[in-house]
Amino acid sequence: MADILSLKESVLVYLDRSGGLQKLTEDCKPFNDPQLSEAVYRFRFSVNPSDVIEVDPVLGDCVLHEPLRATVLFQSVCFLAIKTLSLIEKIHTESQVNVILNFTHLPPFPEYTLDLCRFPRVYGPMRPVSMEGLVIAMTRVTKYTQGARFLCVSDDCPCSKGFHHIRVHAPGATESATVRNHFCCMMCGSQLKEDVKFRVLGDKQLVELIHVKALDVLSGRQQSSLRYQSVTLFLRGRSATNILIVIYLIIITMYGTINIRETNLIKK
Ligand SMILES: [Zn+2]
Repeated sequence: MADILSLKESVLVYLDRSGGLQKLTEDCKPFNDPQLSEAVYRFRFSVNPSDVIEVDPVLGDCVLHEPLRATVLFQSVCFLAIKTLSLIEKIHTESQVNVILNFTHLPPFPEYTLDLCRFPRVYGPMRPVSMEGLVIAMTRVTKYTQGARFLCVSDDCPCSKGFHHIRVHAPGATESATVRNHFCCMMCGSQLKEDVKFRVLGDKQLVELIHVKALDVLSGRQQSSLRYQSVTLFLRGRSATNILIVIYLIIITMYGTINIRETNLIKK
């Protein structure tokens, strides 16, 4: 417990030093529009791993190796700041705060680089890596559900109102993990129904990426037996057109193809 408190304290110090708290104050302003009713409020923060390590090496390690845990720490600190400073009056629970950490860069070590030619074909822990490749195809930008509010169908249950059941898109998850019609109430076990007017949508784009060596086939030299397999990236929140892409990723293999599903494009 003491560890978590000290990590949260370090998050606060980092946000204060890096201008993150100021940005949070600015980002909260549009959410106070009375016309706006949203289940979750999304905030992006630039995270410079070197600066975080300077503030607290344990937090720096957490950001680089357990980014989901680090995100929860930032989420908690943001919620506390929003409540303490009354930045958004209509926010009720911590789960309504959706935090995205955008890395400014990663340490220049091989562990933080993913070479498309040495693609690991196993599940691994989710952590940030950088990868380079050629974009050979991309879809148009479509919408996906970032967050949704669910209410219990039983009128007697306290979860039939309020913000007890908030579902937020998790890294690597499919759309159906966020929004489905057979979630059950944690309190009474009745069915949950989505309150669609609170649904929050975001942008999504699929990009096909291939190793830059695939261009060798255009050089006219003797053909080798090597073949290059492209990978599909799910970019969320921003569209990508540059070659250098840094992502969070988990890897799944199915039907002989490799998909990378990620939370967000963190650099382009
Ligand atoms: Zn219920």
